[in-house]
Amino acid sequence: MKRRIAILGATGSVGRSTLDLVERSPARFEVVALTARGNVEGLADAAMRTGAKLAVIADEARYDELRDRLEGSGCRAAAGAEGLVEAASGDADWVMAAIVGCAGLVPTMAAIEAGKTVALANKEALVTAGALMMDAAARSGATLLPVDSEHNAIFQCLAGSRREDVSRLVLTASGGPFLGSSLEQMSEATPDQAVAHPRWSMGAKISVDSATLMNKGLELIEAHHLFALPSERIDVVVHPQSVVHSLVEFVDGSMLAQLGSADMRIPIAYTLAWPERMATPSQRLSLTEIGRLDFEAPDLERFPALRLAREALERGEGAAIVLNGANEIAVQAFLEGRIGFCDISRTVERALGEIDASRPRSVEEVVALDGETRDRTSALIAESRP
Ligand code: NAD
Ligand code: MG
Repeated sequence: MKRRIAILGATGSVGRSTLDLVERSPARFEVVALTARGNVEGLADAAMRTGAKLAVIADEARYDELRDRLEGSGCRAAAGAEGLVEAASGDADWVMAAIVGCAGLVPTMAAIEAGKTVALANKEALVTAGALMMDAAARSGATLLPVDSEHNAIFQCLAGSRREDVSRLVLTASGGPFLGSSLEQMSEATPDQAVAHPRWSMGAKISVDSATLMNKGLELIEAHHLFALPSERIDVVVHPQSVVHSLVEFVDGSMLAQLGSADMRIPIAYTLAWPERMATPSQRLSLTEIGRLDFEAPDLERFPALRLAREALERGEGAAIVLNGANEIAVQAFLEGRIGFCDISRTVERALGEIDASRPRSVEEVVALDGETRDRTSALIAESRP
């Protein structure tokens, strides 16, 4: 039987890589639903190419345009939050959650509650509602497969072992484009410089997060939820070559690592074919060409975002929502030229100090605290402008 696929965020970097793999294996996969925020053309093209049954545009103002483009194609158009939930919980048995930001939480949760196999790229959803998502998966029987390359690496290393035999996780970080820069240079950094990642080609938001190291901070919280380990048993190490994607240390002192080229199609393929594997066109590693692998401790003075994320994880889930929401707003402000690069972490730190964050008991409470954080952070940014 073919695996029936839905892709939330089909026009993004992860979404397009997923489509690339799926379209190379038509005997194995059937696309049933695709979604995008506002890119009608990209969405309609992908839907017609793959023969999807449902295409959903999140921006309701663009529904008519999507419907007109799909006319006669056999693919139905839908829009808005309800459409996203329908794509997530409908005919698919495998759902890629690749919307960026907390905006992906409600549809991702819908896929989990419907008991799907969910490939999780949308890290902001896990950071803000990880405990609720893991509980919902336990109740519905949904399978959660981590897509983020570090978590996918750990997931691969854990295959066949007992969780109680794990002593520590080690997340690797490339260090981003400013690994060797001074604080002074970083405060002058432009959006173009911040988005130019040395190893990975990704969407704008995660590229900026990689430059501040907030991405690694979000991944720390992500790992805590996915693998049920406390902060003190999850380390971060800078590894500029991005060849080792992460490691697991076991109680006997053994460490297992997963290595591969910096191509998201490798972790995505692992989730697509799971529990099997499938071929990918990804470049093979030549260890002799790589020659050496370097590791160093992260500098928390120059990259305070990583410290803030660890503090938020230790304070509890409400703080993680504030951390994430404030960061989303600050990254957007930086990309729009309204604040400087170093102001991103400063803004997040102020938001964490000012917003009272209690533990959310439902997705509605997560969404409410996220919304409050966004409003308050936008106000903080507006106030501090010259
Ligand atoms: P992207 O910006 O390239 O794509 C985002 C997708 O989400 C697009 O299809 C867009 O239309 C959709 N989207 C954006 N805002 C939306 C909204 N408000 N409502 C509905 N849809 C919306 O992002 P990306 O780089 O593909 O990243 C997607 C997620 O995967 C992020 O959470 C990111 O952290 C995670 N991730 C990405 C990579 C990578 O290599 N790009 C690696 C690891 C994890
Ligand atoms: Mg990652």
